[in-house]
Amino acid sequence: MAPVSLVSLGKAFGSIEAVRDIDLEIADNEFVVLVGPSGCGKSTTLRMIAGLETISRGELRIGETVVNHLSPGERDIAMVFQNYALYPHMNVAQNIAFGLRHRNLSRAEIKAAVLDAARLLDIEALLDRRPKALSGGQRQRVAMGRAIVRRPKVFLFDEPLSNLDAKLRAQMRIEIKRLHQRVPTTTIFVTHDQVEAMTMADRVVVMNNGVIEQVGTPLDVYNKPATRFVAEFIGSPSMNFFDGTLEAQGEDLVFRIGNGRALPVPRARGSAYSKHFGKRLTLGLRPEALSVSDASDFTIEVETKVVEPLGVETIVYFDLAGHPASVRAAPNRAPRAGETVPLSFDMTFMHLIDPEDGSVIP
Ligand code: ATP
Repeated sequence: MAPVSLVSLGKAFGSIEAVRDIDLEIADNEFVVLVGPSGCGKSTTLRMIAGLETISRGELRIGETVVNHLSPGERDIAMVFQNYALYPHMNVAQNIAFGLRHRNLSRAEIKAAVLDAARLLDIEALLDRRPKALSGGQRQRVAMGRAIVRRPKVFLFDEPLSNLDAKLRAQMRIEIKRLHQRVPTTTIFVTHDQVEAMTMADRVVVMNNGVIEQVGTPLDVYNKPATRFVAEFIGSPSMNFFDGTLEAQGEDLVFRIGNGRALPVPRARGSAYSKHFGKRLTLGLRPEALSVSDASDFTIEVETKVVEPLGVETIVYFDLAGHPASVRAAPNRAPRAGETVPLSFDMTFMHLIDPEDGSVIP
């Protein structure tokens, strides 16, 4: 059993606090993805777990053991890097077997373990090849083979898919997930790609500026972002944001956006929002909460700026009250660029953000 606990973990490089106060309990066999923009501290956090970076503050436990001062070799972890770190002069079998050095195993045992890992990753046919005779995806599999063969307590992945093309990346996402199902192992995966985070994680850890902004299941962080940062970072195209004020209009609540138009707020939200009447706030609406149609009671006319056909859907970009925004449209109903169209708003899934501290009002 290998749960991993990060307790008030911090890392300073001189006066730079790269990571601050990270508290995170990762359950045994859980697949956790640390995601955030470049420089947010996710690699530093992973490297502290791996033992490749010293810990400035806090405590790190793997299983029951405090490992702060253990060397990487003593932590029973295996790490897969972005650049694969394969040995060019060794063939695939030797590269995988390298994961077993210092283990005191017989030749037969090593051979069996290598074959086992190669089978799991579907690279049996490549065992005699050198890395330079492999594609990027195959090299990535060999790097994973070297990690798997050790049967570690914890797998650490540092942006392992970023050197692959989009199609292969999507394929490897599924393979890593399947592998995790077949060989359940506590896994911590670092990426800057929110799609990778959403599709692979049991839980997503969104980081920004050296701290955790939110931890939750993929659908939690998508549907119930805790902060504007999370709301904006998770989801593509990004959530739309409109500044305005929350006002009472007779019995009803409305959100008045910059140009004076008032969007009706669902009655059910009234009590949660009552403290915020009259305040400057930001309304967050995902692109799917808008539609190009005049079907609802409430529509606003906008001029479309750019139209992006993706096949399954078309993304339509426009400006509203000085805010750039987007809406998803069915390909056969998408407008042309420059066309003026009515937009309907579904406020059921609205988010209200306090611009002072960036928190989403629950
Ligand atoms: P990326 O996706 O670009 O790798 P990241 O989220 O993984 O980014 P880190 O590499 O963890 O971010 O870096 C976090 C912060 O710590 C950054 O401001 C970075 O400049 C700083 N940092 C990282 N390593 C060092 C170092 N060895 N010395 C000084 N500062 C460092």
